[in-house]
Amino acid sequence: MALDDELKQGLEERKNHAQYRSRRITESAQGAEIIIDGKQVINFCSNDYLGLANHPEVVKAFKEAADVYGVGSGASHLINGHSRLHHQLEEALAEFTGRPRALLFSTGYMANLGVISALLGKGDHVFEDRLNHASLLDAGLLSQARLQRYQHNDINDLKNKLTTSKGKRKFVVTDGVFSMDGDLACIEGLSTQAQKYDAILMVDDAHGFGVLGKKGGGVVEHYELGIEQVPILMGTLGKAFGTFGAFVAGSETLIETLIQQARSYIYTTALPPAIAAATLASLNLVKKDNWRREKLIALIDHFRTGAKQLGLALMESATPIQPLIIGENSKSVELSEALLGSGVMVSAIRPPTVQEGTARLRITLSAAHTEEQVDRLLDGLERYAQT
Ligand SMILES: *Cc1c(COP(=O)(O)O)cnc(C)c1O
Repeated sequence: MALDDELKQGLEERKNHAQYRSRRITESAQGAEIIIDGKQVINFCSNDYLGLANHPEVVKAFKEAADVYGVGSGASHLINGHSRLHHQLEEALAEFTGRPRALLFSTGYMANLGVISALLGKGDHVFEDRLNHASLLDAGLLSQARLQRYQHNDINDLKNKLTTSKGKRKFVVTDGVFSMDGDLACIEGLSTQAQKYDAILMVDDAHGFGVLGKKGGGVVEHYELGIEQVPILMGTLGKAFGTFGAFVAGSETLIETLIQQARSYIYTTALPPAIAAATLASLNLVKKDNWRREKLIALIDHFRTGAKQLGLALMESATPIQPLIIGENSKSVELSEALLGSGVMVSAIRPPTVQEGTARLRITLSAAHTEEQVDRLLDGLERYAQT
Protein backbone atom coordinates (compact mmCIF):
# COMPACT_ATOMS: atom_id res chain seq x y z
CA MET A 1 0.00 0.00 0.00
CA ALA A 2 1.34 3.40 -0.96
CA LEU A 3 0.47 5.03 2.35
CA ASP A 4 2.29 2.34 4.35
CA ASP A 5 5.38 2.75 2.16
CA GLU A 6 5.41 6.48 2.79
CA LEU A 7 4.88 6.02 6.49
CA LYS A 8 7.65 3.46 6.67
CA GLN A 9 10.02 5.95 5.16
CA GLY A 10 8.99 8.52 7.78
CA LEU A 11 9.64 6.04 10.56
CA GLU A 12 13.05 5.18 9.10
CA GLU A 13 13.96 8.86 9.06
CA ARG A 14 13.01 9.17 12.70
CA LYS A 15 15.19 6.20 13.54
CA ASN A 16 18.12 7.71 11.66
CA HIS A 17 17.83 10.90 13.70
CA ALA A 18 17.48 9.02 16.99
CA GLN A 19 13.98 10.47 17.25
CA TYR A 20 12.11 7.21 17.22
CA ARG A 21 10.00 6.78 20.31
CA SER A 22 8.85 3.54 21.81
CA ARG A 23 6.95 2.57 24.88
CA ARG A 24 7.96 0.46 27.80
CA ILE A 25 5.44 -1.49 29.79
CA THR A 26 4.87 -0.57 33.43
CA GLU A 27 3.60 -3.36 35.65
CA SER A 28 3.21 -1.63 38.98
CA ALA A 29 1.64 1.45 40.49
CA GLN A 30 3.53 4.72 40.23
CA GLY A 31 5.93 5.30 43.09
CA ALA A 32 9.57 5.84 43.94
CA GLU A 33 10.19 2.38 42.50
CA ILE A 34 8.30 0.84 39.64
CA ILE A 35 8.45 -2.36 37.64
CA ILE A 36 8.93 -1.64 33.99
CA ASP A 37 9.67 -4.15 31.24
CA GLY A 38 9.90 -6.72 34.01
CA LYS A 39 12.63 -4.86 35.88
CA GLN A 40 12.44 -3.01 39.18
CA VAL A 41 13.89 0.48 38.86
CA ILE A 42 13.98 3.75 40.77
CA ASN A 43 11.62 6.10 39.01
CA PHE A 44 12.91 9.58 38.18
CA CYS A 45 10.59 10.40 35.32
CA SER A 46 7.01 10.54 36.48
CA ASN A 47 5.10 13.71 37.32
CA ASP A 48 3.72 12.23 40.52
CA TYR A 49 5.64 14.90 42.43
CA LEU A 50 3.98 14.39 45.78
CA GLY A 51 3.72 10.60 45.67
CA LEU A 52 -0.09 10.62 45.68
CA ALA A 53 -0.87 8.48 42.62
CA ASN A 54 -0.96 5.33 44.73
CA HIS A 55 -1.73 6.83 48.13
CA PRO A 56 -4.02 4.52 50.18
CA GLU A 57 -6.54 7.29 50.93
CA VAL A 58 -6.76 8.24 47.27
CA VAL A 59 -7.17 4.61 46.21
CA LYS A 60 -9.80 4.06 48.89
CA ALA A 61 -11.85 7.08 47.79
CA PHE A 62 -11.67 5.82 44.22
CA LYS A 63 -12.90 2.34 45.15
CA GLU A 64 -15.69 3.58 47.36
CA ALA A 65 -16.97 5.94 44.70
CA ALA A 66 -16.82 3.19 42.09
CA ASP A 67 -19.02 1.05 44.35
CA VAL A 68 -21.67 3.77 44.33
CA TYR A 69 -21.29 5.43 40.93
CA GLY A 70 -19.84 2.61 38.84
CA VAL A 71 -17.04 3.33 36.41
CA GLY A 72 -18.27 5.28 33.41
CA SER A 73 -19.90 8.69 33.74
CA GLY A 74 -22.14 7.75 30.83
CA ALA A 75 -22.39 11.12 29.12
CA SER A 76 -20.97 14.61 28.85
CA HIS A 77 -21.35 17.12 31.67
CA LEU A 78 -24.17 18.92 29.88
CA ILE A 79 -26.25 15.80 29.41
CA ASN A 80 -26.20 13.77 32.62
CA GLY A 81 -22.53 12.96 33.23
CA HIS A 82 -22.02 15.78 35.75
CA SER A 83 -22.21 13.90 39.04
CA ARG A 84 -22.44 15.21 42.60
CA LEU A 85 -18.75 14.24 42.98
CA HIS A 86 -17.68 16.31 39.96
CA HIS A 87 -19.62 19.23 41.35
CA GLN A 88 -18.09 18.87 44.81
CA LEU A 89 -14.62 18.75 43.31
CA GLU A 90 -15.26 21.91 41.30
CA GLU A 91 -16.36 23.70 44.45
CA ALA A 92 -13.33 22.45 46.35
CA LEU A 93 -10.98 23.57 43.56
CA ALA A 94 -12.59 27.01 43.44
CA GLU A 95 -12.04 27.36 47.16
CA PHE A 96 -8.50 26.03 46.94
CA THR A 97 -7.56 28.51 44.22
CA GLY A 98 -9.43 31.37 45.87
CA ARG A 99 -11.55 31.98 42.79
CA PRO A 100 -15.31 32.16 42.38
CA ARG A 101 -15.62 29.11 40.14
CA ALA A 102 -13.70 26.16 38.72
CA LEU A 103 -14.58 23.89 35.82
CA LEU A 104 -13.37 20.33 35.34
CA PHE A 105 -12.04 19.15 31.99
CA SER A 106 -11.23 15.57 31.05
CA THR A 107 -7.54 16.36 30.40
CA GLY A 108 -5.21 19.33 30.55
CA TYR A 109 -4.75 19.16 26.81
CA MET A 110 -8.49 19.54 26.36
CA ALA A 111 -8.75 22.32 28.93
CA ASN A 112 -6.23 24.39 27.00
CA LEU A 113 -7.86 23.70 23.64
CA GLY A 114 -11.26 24.49 25.11
CA VAL A 115 -10.42 27.75 26.82
CA ILE A 116 -8.37 29.33 24.07
CA SER A 117 -10.57 28.26 21.19
CA ALA A 118 -13.74 29.31 23.03
CA LEU A 119 -12.45 32.77 23.87
CA LEU A 120 -10.39 33.70 20.82
CA GLY A 121 -11.09 33.72 17.11
CA LYS A 122 -10.24 35.49 13.88
CA GLY A 123 -9.08 39.05 14.51
CA ASP A 124 -7.78 38.24 17.99
CA HIS A 125 -4.12 37.87 18.96
CA VAL A 126 -2.50 35.33 21.24
CA PHE A 127 1.03 35.71 22.60
CA GLU A 128 2.74 32.59 23.84
CA ASP A 129 6.10 31.79 25.36
CA ARG A 130 8.23 29.84 22.88
CA LEU A 131 8.60 27.04 25.41
CA ASN A 132 4.90 26.68 26.18
CA HIS A 133 3.43 23.20 26.33
CA ALA A 134 2.29 21.77 22.99
CA SER A 135 -1.35 21.88 24.06
CA LEU A 136 -1.21 25.67 24.48
CA LEU A 137 0.43 26.16 21.11
CA ASP A 138 -2.06 23.80 19.45
CA ALA A 139 -4.87 25.69 21.14
CA GLY A 140 -3.58 28.96 19.72
CA LEU A 141 -3.56 27.47 16.22
CA LEU A 142 -6.99 25.92 16.60
CA SER A 143 -8.52 29.20 17.73
CA GLN A 144 -7.61 30.90 14.44
CA ALA A 145 -6.36 33.91 16.34
CA ARG A 146 -3.00 35.26 15.21
CA LEU A 147 -0.38 33.33 17.22
CA GLN A 148 2.88 35.05 18.10
CA ARG A 149 5.56 33.32 20.13
CA TYR A 150 7.79 35.50 22.28
CA GLN A 151 11.30 34.54 23.40
CA HIS A 152 11.34 32.42 26.52
CA ASN A 153 10.41 34.51 29.57
CA ASP A 154 11.41 37.65 27.67
CA ILE A 155 9.17 40.45 28.91
CA ASN A 156 10.70 42.96 26.50
CA ASP A 157 10.03 40.78 23.51
CA LEU A 158 6.44 40.37 24.65
CA LYS A 159 6.13 44.09 25.18
CA ASN A 160 7.36 44.84 21.66
CA LYS A 161 4.85 42.43 20.23
CA LEU A 162 2.01 43.82 22.33
CA THR A 163 2.85 47.43 21.41
CA THR A 164 2.24 46.82 17.74
CA SER A 165 -0.71 44.47 18.16
CA LYS A 166 -4.04 45.47 16.70
CA GLY A 167 -5.82 42.38 17.91
CA LYS A 168 -9.43 42.81 18.98
CA ARG A 169 -8.96 40.61 22.01
CA LYS A 170 -5.47 39.84 23.24
CA PHE A 171 -4.30 36.91 25.34
CA VAL A 172 -0.90 36.31 26.88
CA VAL A 173 -0.48 32.61 27.64
CA THR A 174 2.27 30.91 29.59
CA ASP A 175 3.21 27.74 31.43
CA GLY A 176 3.59 28.48 35.16
CA VAL A 177 6.49 26.04 35.45
CA PHE A 178 8.05 25.14 32.11
CA SER A 179 7.62 21.44 31.69
CA MET A 180 10.96 20.57 30.07
CA ASP A 181 13.17 23.19 31.76
CA GLY A 182 11.68 23.41 35.24
CA ASP A 183 12.00 27.18 35.53
CA LEU A 184 9.16 29.50 36.54
CA ALA A 185 7.47 32.00 34.28
CA CYS A 186 7.99 35.64 35.28
CA ILE A 187 4.30 35.95 35.97
CA GLU A 188 4.50 39.36 37.62
CA GLY A 189 6.18 40.91 34.60
CA LEU A 190 3.82 39.18 32.19
CA SER A 191 0.85 40.37 34.20
CA THR A 192 2.08 43.97 34.25
CA GLN A 193 2.52 43.99 30.48
CA ALA A 194 -0.77 42.27 29.89
CA GLN A 195 -2.62 44.83 32.01
CA LYS A 196 -0.80 47.72 30.37
CA TYR A 197 -1.79 46.59 26.88
CA ASP A 198 -5.26 45.44 27.72
CA ALA A 199 -4.51 41.75 27.30
CA ILE A 200 -5.69 38.83 29.41
CA LEU A 201 -3.15 36.58 31.11
CA MET A 202 -3.72 32.83 31.17
CA VAL A 203 -1.41 30.60 33.20
CA ASP A 204 -1.17 26.82 32.77
CA ASP A 205 0.18 25.60 36.08
CA ALA A 206 0.28 21.87 35.33
CA HIS A 207 3.62 21.46 37.12
CA GLY A 208 3.16 24.04 39.86
CA PHE A 209 -0.14 23.02 41.43
CA GLY A 210 0.36 21.10 44.63
CA VAL A 211 4.11 21.67 44.47
CA LEU A 212 4.76 25.41 44.69
CA GLY A 213 3.55 27.75 47.40
CA LYS A 214 3.40 26.97 51.06
CA LYS A 215 -0.10 25.54 50.70
CA GLY A 216 0.44 23.98 47.29
CA GLY A 217 -1.49 26.70 45.48
CA GLY A 218 1.11 26.73 42.72
CA VAL A 219 2.87 29.53 40.95
CA VAL A 220 0.20 32.13 41.78
CA GLU A 221 0.56 31.40 45.47
CA HIS A 222 4.34 31.48 45.11
CA TYR A 223 4.17 34.99 43.63
CA GLU A 224 1.12 36.00 45.70
CA LEU A 225 -0.98 36.88 42.67
CA GLY A 226 -4.76 36.92 42.54
CA ILE A 227 -7.47 36.81 39.95
CA GLU A 228 -6.81 40.42 38.90
CA GLN A 229 -3.31 39.56 37.77
CA VAL A 230 -4.12 36.07 36.48
CA PRO A 231 -7.75 36.00 35.35
CA ILE A 232 -7.49 32.51 33.81
CA LEU A 233 -5.77 29.82 35.79
CA MET A 234 -5.51 26.25 34.56
CA GLY A 235 -4.22 23.28 36.53
CA THR A 236 -3.95 19.57 35.89
CA LEU A 237 -4.80 16.70 38.20
CA GLY A 238 -2.67 13.96 36.67
CA LYS A 239 0.62 15.31 38.02
CA ALA A 240 1.10 16.39 41.65
CA PHE A 241 -2.51 15.49 42.46
CA GLY A 242 -1.81 11.95 41.34
CA THR A 243 -5.16 11.35 39.60
CA PHE A 244 -6.39 12.50 36.19
CA GLY A 245 -8.05 15.44 34.51
CA ALA A 246 -7.73 19.20 34.72
CA PHE A 247 -9.55 22.34 35.68
CA VAL A 248 -9.83 26.01 34.88
CA ALA A 249 -10.48 28.52 37.66
CA GLY A 250 -11.72 32.06 37.26
CA SER A 251 -14.73 34.33 37.46
CA GLU A 252 -18.34 33.23 37.40
CA THR A 253 -18.74 34.72 33.93
CA LEU A 254 -15.63 33.05 32.57
CA ILE A 255 -16.73 29.62 33.75
CA GLU A 256 -20.31 30.02 32.53
CA THR A 257 -18.96 31.08 29.14
CA LEU A 258 -16.74 28.02 28.96
CA ILE A 259 -19.68 25.78 29.81
CA GLN A 260 -21.56 27.28 26.87
CA GLN A 261 -18.70 27.49 24.39
CA ALA A 262 -15.68 25.30 25.09
CA ARG A 263 -16.05 22.51 22.56
CA SER A 264 -13.62 20.17 24.29
CA TYR A 265 -15.80 20.53 27.38
CA ILE A 266 -19.14 20.11 25.66
CA TYR A 267 -18.44 17.31 23.21
CA THR A 268 -16.78 14.76 25.42
CA THR A 269 -17.68 12.29 28.12
CA ALA A 270 -17.23 13.49 31.69
CA LEU A 271 -14.41 11.96 33.73
CA PRO A 272 -15.37 8.90 35.75
CA PRO A 273 -16.96 10.17 38.99
CA ALA A 274 -14.56 7.97 40.98
CA ILE A 275 -11.70 10.06 39.59
CA ALA A 276 -13.37 13.12 41.08
CA ALA A 277 -13.70 11.35 44.43
CA ALA A 278 -10.05 10.30 44.33
CA THR A 279 -9.07 13.87 43.51
CA LEU A 280 -11.06 15.22 46.45
CA ALA A 281 -9.00 12.87 48.64
CA SER A 282 -5.73 13.94 47.06
CA LEU A 283 -6.68 17.62 47.35
CA ASN A 284 -7.05 17.05 51.09
CA LEU A 285 -3.58 15.54 51.23
CA VAL A 286 -2.15 18.36 49.11
CA LYS A 287 -3.60 20.86 51.56
CA LYS A 288 -2.69 19.16 54.81
CA ASP A 289 0.60 17.33 54.12
CA ASN A 290 2.98 20.27 54.06
CA TRP A 291 5.74 17.78 54.75
CA ARG A 292 5.50 16.49 51.19
CA ARG A 293 6.45 19.88 49.77
CA GLU A 294 9.11 20.35 52.43
CA LYS A 295 10.60 16.96 51.70
CA LEU A 296 10.57 17.66 48.00
CA ILE A 297 12.45 20.91 48.53
CA ALA A 298 15.03 19.07 50.66
CA LEU A 299 15.44 16.38 47.97
CA ILE A 300 15.81 18.99 45.22
CA ASP A 301 18.52 20.65 47.29
CA HIS A 302 20.22 17.31 47.96
CA PHE A 303 20.20 16.47 44.27
CA ARG A 304 21.49 19.85 43.15
CA THR A 305 24.27 19.90 45.70
CA GLY A 306 25.39 16.41 44.66
CA ALA A 307 25.14 17.17 40.96
CA LYS A 308 27.20 20.34 41.35
CA GLN A 309 29.89 18.38 43.16
CA LEU A 310 30.01 16.10 40.14
CA GLY A 311 30.40 19.13 37.91
CA LEU A 312 27.16 18.45 36.05
CA ALA A 313 25.66 21.42 34.23
CA LEU A 314 22.28 21.84 35.88
CA MET A 315 19.70 24.31 34.70
CA GLU A 316 18.36 27.10 36.88
CA SER A 317 15.47 25.16 38.31
CA ALA A 318 14.11 25.20 41.84
CA THR A 319 11.32 22.76 40.98
CA PRO A 320 11.21 18.95 40.93
CA ILE A 321 11.98 19.13 37.19
CA GLN A 322 15.79 18.98 36.99
CA PRO A 323 16.89 18.63 33.38
CA LEU A 324 20.40 17.75 32.34
CA ILE A 325 21.10 19.01 28.85
CA ILE A 326 23.00 16.45 26.76
CA GLY A 327 22.70 17.93 23.27
CA GLU A 328 22.72 15.06 20.82
CA ASN A 329 19.65 12.87 20.55
CA SER A 330 21.54 9.60 20.36
CA LYS A 331 23.71 10.45 23.34
CA SER A 332 20.73 11.29 25.51
CA VAL A 333 19.14 7.95 24.63
CA GLU A 334 22.35 6.04 25.34
CA LEU A 335 22.66 7.69 28.72
CA SER A 336 19.07 6.99 29.59
CA GLU A 337 19.59 3.33 28.65
CA ALA A 338 22.81 3.02 30.63
CA LEU A 339 21.07 4.45 33.68
CA LEU A 340 18.16 2.07 33.21
CA GLY A 341 20.65 -0.79 33.09
CA SER A 342 21.87 0.28 36.51
CA GLY A 343 18.32 0.39 37.87
CA VAL A 344 17.64 4.11 37.58
CA MET A 345 14.98 5.33 35.19
CA VAL A 346 15.30 8.80 33.69
CA SER A 347 13.70 9.66 30.38
CA ALA A 348 15.53 11.14 27.43
CA ILE A 349 13.60 14.06 25.94
CA ARG A 350 14.34 14.87 22.32
CA PRO A 351 13.13 17.22 19.59
CA PRO A 352 10.47 18.14 18.67
CA THR A 353 9.50 18.19 22.36
CA VAL A 354 12.57 20.35 22.96
CA GLN A 355 14.65 22.45 20.58
CA GLU A 356 17.08 20.76 18.19
CA GLY A 357 20.47 20.25 19.85
CA THR A 358 19.07 20.37 23.39
CA ALA A 359 18.14 16.74 23.94
CA ARG A 360 18.20 16.13 27.64
CA LEU A 361 17.62 13.83 30.54
CA ARG A 362 14.49 15.07 32.24
CA ILE A 363 14.99 14.11 35.87
CA THR A 364 11.95 14.51 38.09
CA LEU A 365 11.97 14.19 41.85
CA SER A 366 9.11 13.16 44.06
CA ALA A 367 8.32 13.46 47.75
CA ALA A 368 8.15 9.66 47.63
CA HIS A 369 11.90 9.39 47.04
CA THR A 370 14.46 8.88 49.79
CA GLU A 371 17.86 10.57 49.93
CA GLU A 372 19.43 7.17 49.32
CA GLN A 373 17.49 6.82 46.08
CA VAL A 374 18.65 10.26 44.96
CA ASP A 375 22.19 9.14 45.81
CA ARG A 376 21.71 6.13 43.53
CA LEU A 377 20.77 8.54 40.75
CA LEU A 378 23.86 10.64 41.46
CA ASP A 379 26.04 7.50 41.40
CA GLY A 380 24.61 6.60 38.02
CA LEU A 381 25.20 10.11 36.69
CA GLU A 382 28.76 10.03 38.00
CA ARG A 383 29.38 6.79 36.18
CA TYR A 384 27.71 7.62 32.86
CA ALA A 385 27.03 11.31 32.48
CA GLN A 386 30.22 13.04 33.53
CA THR A 387 32.06 14.50 30.61
C1 LIG B 1 0.92 17.76 31.18
C2 LIG B 1 0.62 19.12 30.72
C3 LIG B 1 -0.58 19.43 30.09
C4 LIG B 1 -1.57 18.36 29.70
O1 LIG B 1 -2.26 17.87 30.78
P1 LIG B 1 -2.93 16.42 30.65
O2 LIG B 1 -3.92 16.39 31.75
O3 LIG B 1 -1.83 15.45 30.80
O4 LIG B 1 -3.58 16.37 29.30
C5 LIG B 1 -0.85 20.74 29.78
N1 LIG B 1 0.05 21.71 30.05
C6 LIG B 1 1.23 21.44 30.62
C7 LIG B 1 2.18 22.56 30.89
C8 LIG B 1 1.56 20.14 30.97
O5 LIG B 1 2.73 19.87 31.50
